[in-house]
Amino acid sequence: MKCACGRESVYYQRYANRWLCEDCFKKDVEKRVRKVLGREVIRNNVKIGVGISGGKDSLVMTYILKKFYDSIPNSEIICFFVDEGIKGFRDVAKKYVVEFCKEFDIDLRIISFKEEINYTMDELVEKNYLKHLNIGKPCSFCGVVRRYLLNKYAFLNNCTYLAIGHNLDDFCQTILMNYIEGNVKNIIQFGKDVSSSTNFVKRIKPLKLIPEEEVILYAKLNNLKYQKEPCPYSHLSYRYKIKKIIEMLEEDKPGVRFGILRGYESLLKLIEYREGNLKKCKICGSLCSGELCKVCSWLEILKGL
Ligand code: SF4
Ligand code: ZN
Repeated sequence: MKCACGRESVYYQRYANRWLCEDCFKKDVEKRVRKVLGREVIRNNVKIGVGISGGKDSLVMTYILKKFYDSIPNSEIICFFVDEGIKGFRDVAKKYVVEFCKEFDIDLRIISFKEEINYTMDELVEKNYLKHLNIGKPCSFCGVVRRYLLNKYAFLNNCTYLAIGHNLDDFCQTILMNYIEGNVKNIIQFGKDVSSSTNFVKRIKPLKLIPEEEVILYAKLNNLKYQKEPCPYSHLSYRYKIKKIIEMLEEDKPGVRFGILRGYESLLKLIEYREGNLKKCKICGSLCSGELCKVCSWLEILKGL
């Protein structure tokens, strides 16, 4: 089939019922990333901290950001890679990240769970320590601590924004997971991406409008090498089940993922966000409802084990 421009197509965009050639496909992806970021983010005098994991999303995101900012004066990109200590997984990802940053001449900082919290993820699972924190699934700990560390280092490095590689599917999963579990506060916080905490770096999610299969194709067409194997703990997560449900819905009704996102964003506009009476965490200074924030209280318990 031919693309509207007359060239041979490489992709059928089911939800839009159109065929795209390589060039138009790449432009379409980049146009949507530009739309999400807007002029407020794509400008000069900006330092973007990027959470890079070695997977397709973060590499595609960094590649596109680099392309955008290369011609913008006084702009900078710095990547943060969190090594949770998951053998056979994150150590492999690290190689892709190191090579990628070297090839594209991007500053890279490596942050390790072992150095930061004294344990690797593997040790916490092997020793069954998560049960002392009342945590059932590894991701519930790992994901929160990862975000905490990314924010910490983006803040320490004076980043204007922290870019997270969530694609459209990730967004839909988070939205549905929180709806189903009734986590109203999380739903709002996730969408607003703000906090009055003085050490919070505003997050941006450039791939918000890009479905997973398009991230994969974009990576392939640009010869980006990334880690394909999933984390050994990921199948234990609730997210994994929701992912499968969304894939089924999309198969049945193309465009459903954009529908979930649109509905959620319309809802967000109607909600006034109030953080309530928050205190400063006595250890790290983040805003929280108790004396310590969630991460610091977990780390305190771990110290006592
Ligand atoms: Fe951590 Fe879960 Fe991601 Fe694995 S899948 S790296 S355990 S958050
Ligand atoms: Zn804290």
